[in-house]
Amino acid sequence: LRHRKQVFLFLVAVLIPSLTLIFFTQKILRQERELAQKRAVDERKRMALEIGRELHLRLERLKLEEAPGIEAALAYTDEYSLPGPAVGFGILEDERLVLPWQASSSSGRALHSSLSAPVVAEAIHDGERAEFERKDPRLAADLYGKALISASGPGKPYVRLLLARALAKSGRPARAFEQYGVLLDLPPREKDEDGMPIYLYAADRLVNVPTYTDRIVARLGAALAEKPWMSLPETGLVASLLGRILEALEIPDGTRGQATGLLDMVRSYRAKAEHLVEVQQGFERGVPPDAGWQLDGRGEWLLGLGPLPGGGRFLLAVGVHDLSGSLRADETLRQVYPAEIVLAASDSAEGDPLGPDLGGLSILVAGGGDIPAAAGAAESRPFYVLTVAAVVIFAGLGGYLLWRDVRRELGLAEIRSQFAASVSHELKTPLTAIRMFAETVRLGRVKDEPARTEYLDTIINESERLSRLLNNVLDMSKIEQGKKLYQPRSQALAPILCAAVRTMHYPLRQQGFSLQVDIDEGLPEVRVDADALEQAVLNLVGNAIKYSGTAREIALALVRDGDWAVVRVTDFGVGIPLADRQRIFEKYYRVQSSENRQVPGTGLGLALVAHFAREHGGRIEVESAPGRGSTFSLFLPLRFEP
Ligand code: ADP
Repeated sequence: LRHRKQVFLFLVAVLIPSLTLIFFTQKILRQERELAQKRAVDERKRMALEIGRELHLRLERLKLEEAPGIEAALAYTDEYSLPGPAVGFGILEDERLVLPWQASSSSGRALHSSLSAPVVAEAIHDGERAEFERKDPRLAADLYGKALISASGPGKPYVRLLLARALAKSGRPARAFEQYGVLLDLPPREKDEDGMPIYLYAADRLVNVPTYTDRIVARLGAALAEKPWMSLPETGLVASLLGRILEALEIPDGTRGQATGLLDMVRSYRAKAEHLVEVQQGFERGVPPDAGWQLDGRGEWLLGLGPLPGGGRFLLAVGVHDLSGSLRADETLRQVYPAEIVLAASDSAEGDPLGPDLGGLSILVAGGGDIPAAAGAAESRPFYVLTVAAVVIFAGLGGYLLWRDVRRELGLAEIRSQFAASVSHELKTPLTAIRMFAETVRLGRVKDEPARTEYLDTIINESERLSRLLNNVLDMSKIEQGKKLYQPRSQALAPILCAAVRTMHYPLRQQGFSLQVDIDEGLPEVRVDADALEQAVLNLVGNAIKYSGTAREIALALVRDGDWAVVRVTDFGVGIPLADRQRIFEKYYRVQSSENRQVPGTGLGLALVAHFAREHGGRIEVESAPGRGSTFSLFLPLRFEP
């Protein structure tokens, strides 16, 4: 029970501080990690603002770069192009957004003024009456032909269109195709009053004529290459023309491939045009600030206003997707955002805002890759863990050592108190016997001589036992104090053993033991302390008597074994369990068995014998079989040089 309490106390003393330490370290680590994460997030936010500033600069530069091109495009000069990632534009007229194809509607006005010359207007008027009221297309064709000769300027293609129509109606397709063919070569900027390029009307008429297919496809290709935006009706017409060409079975493969590519192109223009119309519709609701950019309704374009070199302002639309792409290609950025990044509207959950000038655009890390700054926090972790582990291990070790010491101390205290008890007990028995026999003799009650002698022998024997006991105690205390105990001298061992046998003669006889003595007289002399050797033999024979149980035989031998003289004491008593066989030579140690508890003893005898053997350069050995007896062999070297 006490043992269990000790273990419990030990655990409490070591475990509670250790657990507390671990708990707090854990907490510190967590806090540190959170802090590092916060720092990383702050750093990222700061970087995002920086990137935003850089992006803003680039976009502003783009405005300046695009402006001349846009102006040129609106003026319909030949050298315009839309560079960079810009995907659409419009111009501002009276704070209203006008899309590119709407801007050039001035051609419609020019058309009317060029047809208002009296000769031309009259011929067209007469021609239309002949065509629709009198149903005479041949006359109408003549009249339109006259008008065509007099017409000039932007109106001329329109008159040719009328002529071609009348020719077709009057059953002269070859001549009609000829006129349409002329119209097909017109540049896209030649439009009717609805803003539809005239060449498309011609293409519409000619599309069913197989010989014209190649020319139409080539014409559409050139127009699309020249003009990257179109009105919605225009894209519709071009798409339907291409569709009809592709439906025809007998067109050559090359033409088919070209037409398919053009169809894809025009579809993407159409999507762009639709998007621009959306932007136009939503424009009044949110005009972007002069120096800033704004996300459009779909979140796909950034819209910004810029000045045109020749006066006026324009709106530039830049694809957010293209911007992300150009950011990903950036070297310095990749060091801060190693993972894939995308740009998105800020209202999407996380992401770092790019700043107020970029219309609430945020930078997002796709796939949530780790940011380098956050990785730094993990570095100090092993250090903390190791420190705590070391502290816990040392605490545990220290606790264990302390616990062991305390236990040993307690064990010793117990042994000492037992020792005191057993010494007093051992003293009492002989003293009582001596006193009793001495009183009996003195009272003169013992009449016959043999009995008297017997009594006196007992008294002598008991006092010898007493002195042996006292010698043991005194020797042990001398050993403990480190005093010199032995005075070895070269001498024969046999006489010392005989003296011991004589001393034990009485107690052996009294308790009915028979001692078998076997002494090798031819042994050389050995350097020993005679008194100490006698005491050792007496201790061994005494033990044989004490632990014989019911056996009544003991053997004592002195033999030579190589360079050793061996004193051997054998009994046939209780024996010694294997577990105790080494420990019986420790001082105060006694085997705790039920038989032994009856036997008085101090636990000093064998410790002294072992000490004697060691000091004389020898050793003590024991062989034993529990219940069958033990043999103690005291080995002394024949050539001992202390
Ligand atoms: P003590 O005999 O006073 O107890 P010892 O040091 O002489 O002390 O012996 C130590 C222990 O060794 C004894 O308590 C006993 O248990 C065991 N012992 C010694 N000699 C024998 C023996 N001959 N047979 C059995 N046990 C023995």
